[in-house]
Amino acid sequence: LSDRLSGILSGLTRRGSLTEEDVNAALREVRRALLEADVALEVVRSFTDKVRERAVGAEVLKSVTPGQQVIKIVNDVLIETLGGEGESINLDAVPPVPVLMVGLQGSGKTTSTAKIAKRLTDRNRKKVLMASLDTRRPAAMEQLAVLGQQVGVQTLPIVAGQSAVQIARRAIEAGRLGGFDVVMLDTAGRVTLDDTLMEEVAQVKAATNPHEVLLVADALTGQDAVNTARAFDARVGLTGIVLTRMDGDSRGGAALSMRAVTGKPIKLVGIGEKVDELDDFHPSRVANRILGMGDIVSLVEKAAQTIDAAQAQATAQRMAKGQFDLSDMRAQLQQMEKMGGLGGVMSMLPGMKQAQSQLTNAGVGDKMFKSMIAAIDSMTPAERKNPDLLKNSRKKRIAAGSGTTAEQINKLLKMHRGMADAMKMMSKQKGGMLGKLGGM
Ligand code: GDP
Ligand code: MG
Repeated sequence: LSDRLSGILSGLTRRGSLTEEDVNAALREVRRALLEADVALEVVRSFTDKVRERAVGAEVLKSVTPGQQVIKIVNDVLIETLGGEGESINLDAVPPVPVLMVGLQGSGKTTSTAKIAKRLTDRNRKKVLMASLDTRRPAAMEQLAVLGQQVGVQTLPIVAGQSAVQIARRAIEAGRLGGFDVVMLDTAGRVTLDDTLMEEVAQVKAATNPHEVLLVADALTGQDAVNTARAFDARVGLTGIVLTRMDGDSRGGAALSMRAVTGKPIKLVGIGEKVDELDDFHPSRVANRILGMGDIVSLVEKAAQTIDAAQAQATAQRMAKGQFDLSDMRAQLQQMEKMGGLGGVMSMLPGMKQAQSQLTNAGVGDKMFKSMIAAIDSMTPAERKNPDLLKNSRKKRIAAGSGTTAEQINKLLKMHRGMADAMKMMSKQKGGMLGKLGGM
């Protein structure tokens, strides 16, 4: 893939914003990469739509090519789709907290049960009880008991002839009496999805009211894992996913598909057969595995940082001299938008608290950034430098050009005056933070 993508990358060398052709050319290869990584077709479609929507018209940073810029956007959307980092197992309930492990046979349920129990014991200092509900295969119960000894976690004593629901009830009761924090229930699996299995799991869930229902799925099974996830979620309701065999040569497509289809977080990944081979889920690593474009992503990130830093410094220097025109304000507004709105960068810049309250007083919400930036974009360079030029006729022209109203333009100008005054005052305070910034 990298070779093919590189071809596309070097082909796209125009500057400015990304055109639909740029994006489509890059997306054809991205689509192929996703399918090769065994991502479900429906997920590939919605994913590329999302990238297209974000990429077309996006500005290409200096020193990177349009193709590289698309890859960065693809990577960002991948990480977003894969979900947040380190969403751990939720034990926020009255102990003993039941955790139900479900999935197909051979997916790694029993192994993962022991791995998680070990982790909760070692890292979270929890007292954990494990119970096997696999009534059909006595060897499965033995397997959990052996693993329990190995990791130093207690298992529920085996009693022959009980049903899965009976064992589950007994486990919860033993957990309560024994003062356990967590009771992990390892269920039986079938080679394929079938109704008896689902019914049993549903009954166990009803009997124990688990706080977490974790689907254990094998990353190597790709698209099948998605059907499994969908079926279990529909019938039993999942709270999260444990993805096993990520040490294998899977490209990570199952992770993306399962997350996109069920919306359930991938909480942990299995990375080997040993009991400590369990890892937190890192979306950026998986994105890199799917795309194989880590170098380009960091290149674009660096380019963005450089530009942000250069721009921030230029603005700071001008602010320190008491020069703050509408172009500077535009840069600030854009920065704020990027950093997550009013609460973001404003509160970080020295002296900006004041400007922030002025913004709020002027009735500026986060949503208004875009229209204010659009209004400034509709001005001529001379107008941006010297806002006094903006008489009524010019305001009308700008409002029409940017889809705003004359009233909004007035608000914008008033806000700019307030900010410029504040800057001027601050720049006169010798040795103030702003002065130092300007001198950087
Ligand atoms: P269950 O039937 O769902 O309970 O599956 P098991 O826990 O018995 O695991 C089936 C096989 O997969 C065992 O040989 C495990 O050692 C192996 N296994 C489980 N998790 C992983 C993993 O993350 N990586 C690798 N390589 N093997 C695993
Ligand atoms: Mg098992």
